[in-house]
Amino acid sequence: MPASSRTQAYSALGLAPGAVPAEIKRAFRRLAMHWHPDRNAGAEAAERFRQVKAAHDLLIRGGGADTGPDDVADDMAEPDAAPVRGPDQQEMLWLTVEEAIFGDVQVLELTRPEPCDECDGTGRITLASSRMCACCRGSGRVQGRHGLVRCDVCGGRGYSAEAACEACEGSGERRAGRKLRVTVPAGMWPGRTLRVAGKAQPVGDLPPGDLLLVCQLRLHGLFALRGEALEVRVPVPLFALLAGEPVTVPVPGGETVCVEVPAGTAVETCLELPGQGLPLRSGGRGALHVVMQPVLPEALGKTDIAALRALQAALAGREAKLYPALAEWRATWLGMTPRKSGKKSRKKAG
Ligand SMILES: [Zn+2]
Ligand SMILES: [Zn+2]
Repeated sequence: MPASSRTQAYSALGLAPGAVPAEIKRAFRRLAMHWHPDRNAGAEAAERFRQVKAAHDLLIRGGGADTGPDDVADDMAEPDAAPVRGPDQQEMLWLTVEEAIFGDVQVLELTRPEPCDECDGTGRITLASSRMCACCRGSGRVQGRHGLVRCDVCGGRGYSAEAACEACEGSGERRAGRKLRVTVPAGMWPGRTLRVAGKAQPVGDLPPGDLLLVCQLRLHGLFALRGEALEVRVPVPLFALLAGEPVTVPVPGGETVCVEVPAGTAVETCLELPGQGLPLRSGGRGALHVVMQPVLPEALGKTDIAALRALQAALAGREAKLYPALAEWRATWLGMTPRKSGKKSRKKAG
């Protein structure tokens, strides 16, 4: 067959040259449904239906009649027209932090639309004999907004040898679900792709391609992704941070690690725990970022307040050393110079 007729056939189906058989069949079903004389009474419908069918037959069945030297050139020009296996299929693989780090066995539920088996994707089934149209009860007319109009279901005939497919409710598609057991190896970083050979959705009669599962992290109540690093926020009583008490930090896997924070830490501080974070492309695991978040006591009792007063009294008189920022603020805005040894020193007013 001449290359030009194949090109025309692709264009009649609204496809780019080289479309795979599944795409050709899908386009044919869609167009054939639209232009079928039983469904479309327009003057050009019959001719368009004939063109679409001829294009489908040529591309799928090879057209039969005209073979010759052009055939060879045509096949060489379109090597993609006959792939040896179906396309790969990409899906997201949602993992918890622990599953990504330590691996897991997952049962994936993959659903995607497939042409309905009952009606071959057309949404219509052919009845053994014509039947009175249920929509217009055989009259060929239905009540429209401005009086009686032609019944679209039977094309005004009042009877039809076709009916909407019950299996897919006329949509031509059904959502096919399949379950797949996948062993997720340890060391999945976000974006890492797991290739499961030969498990893509089959297309036509071709051997299926590979299923590509792209790792994504599920939201976690404790661990968060900050850029590429795993982060955990740990609230710590301010006085424990100031005194330098060891802090217990949760790490992935349900364990904890004891972290020493240098005494005198009063602001939010980030430490890194090497080897406790997410898997790295280069192997091993990255650092877990630990954000120590100072928290202040609430609902203080009398004894707590007395203890705080004693602390305040113990620190009093050394503001210049203990609170340099406060001392500078007071000097700038209140005209106070830092107090020393409890001796008041104040600029004279006026
Ligand atoms: Zn009807
Ligand atoms: Zn169906």
